Amino acid sequence: MAQNQTDVIKELQNYKETLWMNPNYQTESAETEFKNKLSPEKIEEARQRLLRFAPYLIEQFPETKATNGLVESPLWPIPKMKKALEHLNSAAIAGDVFIKLDSQLAIAGSVKGRGGVYEVLTLAERIALENGLLSPDDDYQKLADSKIKEVFNQYTIQVGSTGNLGLSIGIISAKIGFKVIVHMSSDAKEWKKQLLREKDVHVIEYENDYSEAVEAGRKQSDADPKSYFIDDENSVDLFLGYATAASYLQKQLEDANIEVSEAKPLFVYLPCGVGGAPGGITYGLKQIFGDHVHCFFIEPTKAPCMLLGMATEKHDKVSIQDYGIDGRTAADGLAVGRPSSFIGKVMTPLLSGVFTVEDSTLFYYLQTLYQSENVFIEPSAAAGFIGLLQQDNSRFQTYIHKQNLQNKMNDATHIIWATGGRLVPNEERDRYLKMS
Ligand SMILES: *Cc1c(COP(=O)(O)O)cnc(C)c1O
Repeated sequence: MAQNQTDVIKELQNYKETLWMNPNYQTESAETEFKNKLSPEKIEEARQRLLRFAPYLIEQFPETKATNGLVESPLWPIPKMKKALEHLNSAAIAGDVFIKLDSQLAIAGSVKGRGGVYEVLTLAERIALENGLLSPDDDYQKLADSKIKEVFNQYTIQVGSTGNLGLSIGIISAKIGFKVIVHMSSDAKEWKKQLLREKDVHVIEYENDYSEAVEAGRKQSDADPKSYFIDDENSVDLFLGYATAASYLQKQLEDANIEVSEAKPLFVYLPCGVGGAPGGITYGLKQIFGDHVHCFFIEPTKAPCMLLGMATEKHDKVSIQDYGIDGRTAADGLAVGRPSSFIGKVMTPLLSGVFTVEDSTLFYYLQTLYQSENVFIEPSAAAGFIGLLQQDNSRFQTYIHKQNLQNKMNDATHIIWATGGRLVPNEERDRYLKMS
């Protein structure tokens, strides 16, 4: 491994905030096996499927009315936050700053509403078609009929989760009529388990981390022929659900007259756990904006599994524990010890780099955002802001020069992908806002 790669790994082991630039980043994305498997047509197919379900979702979740039955979020400029960060850090931020408010997503209140809802709807459609209960031209509102729900109720959906995926899968599955079991890791917050139990979701708790919850869930599901296991570490459907975010964002940018071009680069900062959400979104963005978009993942200093997987090129064959990193972070959505089996490989030519961020920094961003823009997000969702404050970082600067962007940064657009927060209970919010 090159010297700068080993330097980064040392910084990770010392829990220092760091930046890893991807040495395998390519401007003209190479043909990879996944590129063939996950073509743009697949993303379009996913988008069409979500459009078919839109009338059903409007009926079942009236909160989706504003987005015409899509699980989609606003894009807001946050100039006051930009100013506050510049002031507090005595550093200028070149370019305009926007926030993508997946923190307000319908159904799940987090980015998991994209992948999780999509995968469960895909299953429901397949089961309904196989049982002759639906044809693709039907109005999907009929899926709410009690006769069809009775059929769905013969099937069980199971998932392992640190919290938010469980919320997303649990809420949509229960609404469809599926039986649903959520296997929750020890990081999962009590209120998330409670909320699910109120919706008649069966929650099983585990003493250990996410991997154990996933393993147990998979085993229990495999033993039952009418049970589906939603596999956060390997699922292509989750990935496609996330990838549909890109075309909606493209339209939002156009509507706001924000140009993305060689002269006006787009930077996107995505919090990363197992990698599915940021990986799917990045994949979609790269299909649309190509070399004009620069995507970065952000992980907690205590759980940098994707960075380790990509830097060592061992992907899911490596865990943070192998490097003595303990995984204890308040960013529960990102508290993952081992990355997805395929995201890191798909990201190898596409991802610009990975930042790590300390928990105390997350609370500082969360509070500054609330004070400056009156927007509340959860700790995991605040990770992206660190990308704005590293413009002077020498590794970042090397990239900027290599991509010939040094004279374009004042015309850049930065998007902080805020991945969750709407369902956080008030007492918890108050606690986060006071935390130092
Ligand atoms: C799950 C989650 C992420 C990251 O998604 P992965 O697919 O695990 O990488 C980011 N933010 C929040 C709030 C999440 O719940």
